Amino acid sequence: MPDQRARRIADAITPLRVEPGRTVRLGKDFDPRYKADFVHKKDGKELLQTGVALLADYQARLAAQDVHGVLVCLQSLDAGGKDGTIRHVMSGVNPQGVHVHGFKVPSAEELDHDFLWRYAQRLPARGEIVIFNRSHYEEVLVVRVHPELLDRQKLPAKAKGHGVWGHRYRAINDWERYLTDNGIAVVKLFLNLSKEEQLERFLARIDVPEKNWKFSANDVKERRFWDDYQDAFSEMLSATSTPWAPWYVIPADRKWFARICVSAVLAHTLIELDPRYPVVSDEDRRQLLTVKAALELEAPQKDRHRREAVPG
Ligand code: AMP
Ligand code: MG
Repeated sequence: MPDQRARRIADAITPLRVEPGRTVRLGKDFDPRYKADFVHKKDGKELLQTGVALLADYQARLAAQDVHGVLVCLQSLDAGGKDGTIRHVMSGVNPQGVHVHGFKVPSAEELDHDFLWRYAQRLPARGEIVIFNRSHYEEVLVVRVHPELLDRQKLPAKAKGHGVWGHRYRAINDWERYLTDNGIAVVKLFLNLSKEEQLERFLARIDVPEKNWKFSANDVKERRFWDDYQDAFSEMLSATSTPWAPWYVIPADRKWFARICVSAVLAHTLIELDPRYPVVSDEDRRQLLTVKAALELEAPQKDRHRREAVPG
């Protein structure tokens, strides 16, 4: 990767990052319609293609090196574009190296465990990229907006009393630090949608038959809690953007631009990890050549001549 290109990507995503320690007020600090001046929609497709190719190359190296894992946490309000983003941004990578897990209302078994348990089950192995479509952050978002969900979590009185959200932020930060210390990079993306654009997307889900399946009456119920969600997101971004796992707020009203931003943040993460194909030692190389000589004795005579004619 030429340094200049890596620097351009790093510069492009800087305005999206929540600096650790900063207090975020979503409505005031981040514009869902933001678009960088130097990016135009007509170039969007090509830029995304470049990002897709870059990711495919880095993912192959990540898998071959088998040292680092990458956990991508995608959060948004309903209709923020999580599914489409995953489909487009990851379209070029080898499906063997990427897993996507969606998190829904927790099951009885999941409620019988500590609050990070079900997320810990799905972490990436070394060499893998795992995408959480919704993540452990639901535990301080939907659960915060609807306190009756906390009541279902069978917590001891002390653990759900005053200070519960502060304790959860701390537990999440500690857990992510543990993961990054172990070589699992944690990438956190919040698709920041405006209330107006959410309305447009809900209406499209009702009007377009192919989109009907995506519409849920519950989404409309949740929309009534818009302000509560904005507060919960603001506080979560302020408390859990850390030097080891910072949040990126992705302007989500323009889908094409959101996808380019997500692709750039992922590319940046992988460039920083800089995974490399393992280098074969001289001794291993000598062994490979010995094996090759033995294999060639098995090949039909005509193929042997052909291979010898090919240089290298
Ligand atoms: P969807 O992603 O549209 O399929 O919806 C999944 C639903 O599961 C959403 O309504 C989320 O709010 C809900 N959900 C996800 N995680 C949790 C959680 N930890 N507790 C309660 N509800 C959750
Ligand atoms: Mg939904």
